[in-house]
Amino acid sequence: MSTLEVTTVADGVHVAFGPDVNWTLLVDGEDVTLVDSGYPRYVGAVVESLRRVGRRPEDVRAILLTHAHIDHIGGAGHFASTYGTPVLTSDAEARHARREYLEQASPLDVARNVWRRGALAWTVRIARAGGTESGAVADAEGFDSVVGSVPGGPLDLPGGPVPLDTSGHTSGHTGYHVPGAGAVLSGDALVTGHALSVRTGPQMLPPLFAHDRPREFDALDAFVGLDADVLIPGHGGVHRGSVDDAVRRVRSARA
Ligand SMILES: [Zn+2]
Repeated sequence: MSTLEVTTVADGVHVAFGPDVNWTLLVDGEDVTLVDSGYPRYVGAVVESLRRVGRRPEDVRAILLTHAHIDHIGGAGHFASTYGTPVLTSDAEARHARREYLEQASPLDVARNVWRRGALAWTVRIARAGGTESGAVADAEGFDSVVGSVPGGPLDLPGGPVPLDTSGHTSGHTGYHVPGAGAVLSGDALVTGHALSVRTGPQMLPPLFAHDRPREFDALDAFVGLDADVLIPGHGGVHRGSVDDAVRRVRSARA
């Protein structure tokens, strides 16, 4: 891990940019909700991102996953086994996190895409980051049973994130709205860049990463009509401006 950037985008909302994936720290008093956790070998960077906002791994009340792909779940097992940190996501995605099933691009899928600009360097980087490891988190649980709340309401976690069902990228993919900060954490359901993309700005990931491409587009509905003007994606930079407009742009680019 050579580069790490941590940026405060709203009060209590800090985004960490690893070289190839982002994670977010929702800080409330001493407590932190960590949304996603990078690749397996980003653990040191995740700990460093906590240090930069004046917190320690022990301050993390839960790791909340957008989804269980290896670039988002990678550090979670370490936190769970070392600090007893709960690892939470939707019920469907918790099964994915426990590796009861796997919806991840295979090395062959990736090999078929090496024609994409930057793909070879990217595959070398992600292999070094532990991208071929399992990442299974045996104790991952659905947030409903642990910090259950009224449907559509906030989870009882620092930052009060509200889950957004955005299944499609994976069967249980979940985004999070942070109403107090006007922020949407879109995970991989809507991104603003990727090593395999030549563009920046709101966009979908390349199709090879999607479990169900049509559903991935349908899921964008979950981001529409929220009180939010900061989009924090799993890959790419923070996008400021109307999230509704960002969704419209992505949909019209597909048409
Ligand atoms: Zn990802």
